[in-house]
Amino acid sequence: MCIIARKIKKIMDFKLTPEQLELQKVAREYAQNELPALADELEETGDPVPKDALMKIGEMGFLGVNTPTEYGGQGLTNLEAIIILEEFGKISSAVGWPVFEANAGPVKVLQHFATDALKERVIPKVCSGEMVVAVSMSEPGAGTGLTDLKTKAEIKGDKIVINGNKRWCSGAGHSDGYVVYARMSDAPAAKGIGAVFVDIDTPGLTFGNNENLMGWRGIPSADIYFDNVEVPIENLLVEPEDGFKKLMETFDLERCGNATMALAQASSALDYVQNYVQEREQFGKPIVDFQAVQIKLADMLMKVEASRLLIHRAVFNAANGLPDILESSSAKCFANEISREVTTTAMQLMGGYGFNKEYGMERKVRDSFGWGIAGGTIDVQKVNIASAMIGRRFNQRAK
Ligand SMILES: Cc1cc2nc3c(=O)[nH]c(=O)nc-3n(C[C@H](O)[C@H](O)[C@H](O)COP(=O)(O)OP(=O)(O)OC[C@H]3O[C@@H](n4cnc5c(N)ncnc54)[C@H](O)[C@@H]3O)c2cc1C
Repeated sequence: MCIIARKIKKIMDFKLTPEQLELQKVAREYAQNELPALADELEETGDPVPKDALMKIGEMGFLGVNTPTEYGGQGLTNLEAIIILEEFGKISSAVGWPVFEANAGPVKVLQHFATDALKERVIPKVCSGEMVVAVSMSEPGAGTGLTDLKTKAEIKGDKIVINGNKRWCSGAGHSDGYVVYARMSDAPAAKGIGAVFVDIDTPGLTFGNNENLMGWRGIPSADIYFDNVEVPIENLLVEPEDGFKKLMETFDLERCGNATMALAQASSALDYVQNYVQEREQFGKPIVDFQAVQIKLADMLMKVEASRLLIHRAVFNAANGLPDILESSSAKCFANEISREVTTTAMQLMGGYGFNKEYGMERKVRDSFGWGIAGGTIDVQKVNIASAMIGRRFNQRAK
């Protein structure tokens, strides 16, 4: 009995370890000291994080937290990556973006499935900040119904030839490489899908104009056009028939990264507004003295804490591997919803100042809406959750 009790105590410890707290402190201090001015600049210009800033972030080790040391990473777990990501996302979505892409995004597809040659060529450069990799899945006719995608990648001898159109690629036009989902066999829907890595300077690859989005300034988004784009066979990532399944398994980690960025909008909004309501006075006293304000603060705190717990559970249970779909979709869905609620409540608590761009709260509101669409909408996460709960996939197709 004593032995069992000791084991249970060890497993159910919700506190971060002293090393994780130290890591969080280093990331927080770096983000808060080095990035706010850059975040404002990117919001103003719409430009992505410049290479010199990226290289500094890389030098600090923040771009390869959960990447094996043999590829230039820190060799830590997904939990440490997520802890750091929240600190960057709190400053802004734009400055957090490369950290998200490197630790939870498409680079993980390379880490798990690329040829050794491709891993060795790309991953160390991502860790150092020399390269950013984006993901290109969506198409004009394939959003939630991603398995309807039409872009083709045909293997011809030692080359792969890609033709088609992609949409909504965050990072399009400035990222150095793209994980491109494509149809690689005549098998229908998911069964025919694979993925290929494409370098930005490959002939035949062109980009549309930057989209004029409601938020996410500093993360340029554009269409991508493939006109007989040829890449070497070494750039093959996954093939049908199980390629799409593998992509979705790595996407379970991307969902946790998305959830963390959504959470970061909420947790930073709460950090800010918690001070604001103690400083702002009306009727001769701080507005925090009004019970209606206290109730809002308490609701916000519970949502932020619950969201962080769901995310930490998903990545902790995955350790160095990939989270399961029930835990990652629950974490994403909940974070996406509370992010919108918490940021808008914070904006309301700031009265006219919340509505003023100078104070940065409206940016968090706008960005939080993007996180609830990117990486699969809130409602489709609920379909995933119900499906995992019941134990079978629900066919979304008309026939
Ligand atoms: C800010 C942002 C960044 C993005 N970044 C990228 C990126 O880097 N790479 C990339 O490839 N794509 C990216 N996307 C695209 C994103 O993945 C899609 O927008 C998303 O999957 C939804 O597709 P859609 O826009 O075509 O909407 P639709 O699929 O047309 O959905 C419209 C509405 O219908 C609902 N709906 C549709 N089907 C179902 C269903 N079966 N059950 C329940 N509800 C359903 C949806 O929930 C949604 O509310 C990004 C999008 C945004 C907004």
